[in-house]
Amino acid sequence: MSHDPNCIFCKIVAGQIPSRKAYEDEELLAFHDIHPWAPVHVLIIPKTHIASMADVTGDHAPLLGRMAALGPRLMKELGVTNGFRHVINTGADGGQEVYHLHLHVMGGPRPWLKG
Ligand code: 5GP
Ligand code: ZN
Repeated sequence: MSHDPNCIFCKIVAGQIPSRKAYEDEELLAFHDIHPWAPVHVLIIPKTHIASMADVTGDHAPLLGRMAALGPRLMKELGVTNGFRHVINTGADGGQEVYHLHLHVMGGPRPWLKG
């Protein structure tokens, strides 16, 4: 398990920064985004430090699959019944601000949806 001491999401995994958790297992953590773009907005991250999708290889396929599949399960648990979005921002021009791979999963009533 790779850990970057300067990474805020590694600090969340380690419990050094508090978060409102939605799910946790040995490999993955999901928590509510601190500045939500939607009524329900969770971030699903691998516990191991992977900086971005630009660093993902075929070996990560099972991990990515588990992240993607967790989204619908969490939306259901959190009461989202009418659809949701999965978003991954990668690199500066992709709008990535935190360089620890994270999947945004956003749902809830639609007025927030602009893009
Ligand atoms: P990015 O632009 O990198 O795809 O998204 C980073 C996301 O992480 C943003 O939506 C931001 O609100 C969220 N975020 C940044 N720092 C924290 C934090 O300390 N706690 C939580 N819960 N979310 C954070
Ligand atoms: Zn990290």
